[in-house]
Amino acid sequence: MIRFEEAYALVLSRVVTIQKPERVLLLESLHRVLAEDIVSDINMPPFRKSAVDGFACRMSDLRMPLKIVETIAAGSLPTMQVEPGTCAKIMTGAPIPLGADCVLPVEDTRLADDLYVEFTGMEAKKNICELGEDIRIGDVSINKGIIIGPQHIAIMAALGYHQPLVATQPRVGILPTGDELVEPNIKPLGGQIRNSNGYQLVAQTKAAGALPSYYGIVSDSKDATYEVLAKAIAENEVVALTGGVSMGDYDYVPEIMEKLGVTIHFSSVAVQPGKPTTFGTLDNKLVFGLPGNPVSAFIQFELLVKPAIRKLMGCKQLNPTAIRLPLAEDYRRNRAERMALVPVKIIAGSAALPVEFHGSAHIFALGNADGIIAVPIGTTKIDKGEIVDVRPL
Ligand code: AMP
Ligand code: MG
Repeated sequence: MIRFEEAYALVLSRVVTIQKPERVLLLESLHRVLAEDIVSDINMPPFRKSAVDGFACRMSDLRMPLKIVETIAAGSLPTMQVEPGTCAKIMTGAPIPLGADCVLPVEDTRLADDLYVEFTGMEAKKNICELGEDIRIGDVSINKGIIIGPQHIAIMAALGYHQPLVATQPRVGILPTGDELVEPNIKPLGGQIRNSNGYQLVAQTKAAGALPSYYGIVSDSKDATYEVLAKAIAENEVVALTGGVSMGDYDYVPEIMEKLGVTIHFSSVAVQPGKPTTFGTLDNKLVFGLPGNPVSAFIQFELLVKPAIRKLMGCKQLNPTAIRLPLAEDYRRNRAERMALVPVKIIAGSAALPVEFHGSAHIFALGNADGIIAVPIGTTKIDKGEIVDVRPL
């Protein structure tokens, strides 16, 4: 049995980032990993522009009525210079005329007659956005390796990246094993249970930004396991099996992995839940034998498989940023040989409350959880109010 930190380091040391980026249409890049730096080809703003609807004038002229010489709409250019005693009516986003050094907002002015305007405010502010104050030509606005969100789509649109370069999505083969399993559309009969892991892993793979392939339920037979696993390894960069990795009579997964030439790097991790988690490689292919119990499979996918998928895509952030919160109630456990992973609910953004959790088969606990906390080996208690790191789900 190895410690989680060791297992994590071993997995990541085996990941070879896929060097085959592709160009996609801007909107198709959402949630993909950016594979090029986004460099500005323009200054923003591209010209000195007004920040308000109002009157462009000279700061030194504020105490007198100002003659309105023209109106400048957004998208049009000034035709006149602002001379002493004059101003130009101007719209938000329109270029500032020469000679003006401030814009009086409409709401701080009063029309003296059709041709003159007076300042009625207390003090004048500039209200001018300077050329290039947001970004300059050649500036890097986004570094490669981020996961593209809607805000990055806006930046890429502004800078002309209509076909950004993104990382190729790794293919992940998903193989739930177990003779007791039936698919969700079937009412389980004696001894049967519905296959939740298969769908869970497909969803986790999608959420991690990779491409899942679902291979269906694999029966607890050496031949069937051999055949489907061989195919999945051939067709994917990552394979995630569930079940068949514990000590039962029909747990064949590690044996078949080895028979197929997979080198097993670990087969037991000091975590709870998830102890029988198994990991092997064949060339650059990553094979994860996750436990059959749904919570174990879920958490170990999050902790080990997801960072591996992200590294395959060259993503800079392999894990979600933890949220530091006080624990909402005392946590106690009797034994502490393994690192415990405890599902918690975040209460109104102010504390982490462990949810009712009966163990590794209790998938319903995760339905109420916002995150998980890790209780280190050797720690049997965390008191209410102590600060914990919540890993968001
Ligand atoms: P195993 O690791 O194969 O011994 O399975 C451990 C437990 O997880 C057993 O109670 C299984 O019935 C259950 N289990 C295995 N695979 C799945 C699955 N795909 N969906 C839901 N439960 C499963
Ligand atoms: Mg099984």
